[in-house]
Amino acid sequence: MSALAAETGAINLSQGFPGFPVSEDFKRILADTIHQNVHQYAPMQGLLTLREQIRQVVDQEYQRKIGAGDILITAGATQAIFTVVQALVNEGDEVLIIDPAYDCYRPAIDLVKAKAVHVSLDNELRLDVGAIEDALTPKTRMIIVNNPHNPTGTVFPKSQMDSLVGVLEKYPDCFILADEVYEFINFLGEPVSFNYYPQLFDRLICISSFGKTLHATGWKVGYLTAPDKIMKEILKVHQFLVFSVSHFAQSAIAEYLKIFDIKELAGFYRAKQEILSNSLSKSSLKLMPCSGTYFQVVDISGVTDMGDVDYAIWLTKEKGVATIPLSVFYTSQPFSNYLRLCFAKDEETLLKAGDILCQI
Ligand code: PMP
Ligand code: GLN
Repeated sequence: MSALAAETGAINLSQGFPGFPVSEDFKRILADTIHQNVHQYAPMQGLLTLREQIRQVVDQEYQRKIGAGDILITAGATQAIFTVVQALVNEGDEVLIIDPAYDCYRPAIDLVKAKAVHVSLDNELRLDVGAIEDALTPKTRMIIVNNPHNPTGTVFPKSQMDSLVGVLEKYPDCFILADEVYEFINFLGEPVSFNYYPQLFDRLICISSFGKTLHATGWKVGYLTAPDKIMKEILKVHQFLVFSVSHFAQSAIAEYLKIFDIKELAGFYRAKQEILSNSLSKSSLKLMPCSGTYFQVVDISGVTDMGDVDYAIWLTKEKGVATIPLSVFYTSQPFSNYLRLCFAKDEETLLKAGDILCQI
């Protein structure tokens, strides 16, 4: 959809990436960094200075104590997810994923010849813990849970996380891969993370992305946390997949984290979500609840009989607004009446897109 947006000159609310520049401070730090000794390989597991910053973030945000050895710097969350699946899942295992699911889970599972078991969110796009419980078996090697959730823009609240964790406690051999790349873009007012559940720590891998947290998706730096025994297995794959991650990028991020206020992130994106939702208040598109990430889902059933894919293409070509149809994130039980709009854009862009969408 980004390619189609570029080709047609449409406003691009499709692929999820910030449409505004990174901060002047971040640019200055990057410029200063490149004069330092940062041009050769970084250590395999990541710069200690960066892992130390992450250790502090995890402690401050979740009151969870981990060591720098429990952290691996990766080339974005995508590499983290791929690496974890290759390291821990074997042929014939089952891996439970929740539809609509972010697109990089399934290929990683298929590549190790494991069986992906898809469980859908319910009709209101909420976590269906009962359905997850029904799908778990002794063969379930891993469950992948993304919260805050892309593409729906919802956050599964603490009450649902509590019941999910209760169910997972009955399956002690199942790894939990927590894709929490939007962990700080949460409008619920209550923090939610697997980092709050010590009973799972011996089989929990948490993943985050500086692409999301620092508005810098192009830097491709993320990280995972895992306990020692699991980390050893993950490192065996990481070593021969990338060995290590961009040294200067890690160094600049470590420095920037000293001044970046993570707590402002939710308010920053909440304001953008409000600009978009207000600008759509006179539209016939129905806004679905949005409690996190930088995605707003809209229901198109009031404006068209077309399926979401055709409608998204039409909207891009004929009206000049590119979005993502939600059905592409489903394997089981696809809905075909939702579009995802990325609101990580400047105010002018959001208002312009809102104007167009109010006229359809
Ligand atoms: N998981 C989710 C849910 C995402 O939205 C993204 C980014 N689109 C990723 C993983 C991948 O993150 P990264 O860009 O750091 O590889
Ligand atoms: N995570 C971004 C999204 O959901 C896209 C990243 C990508 O294009 N691979 O839109």
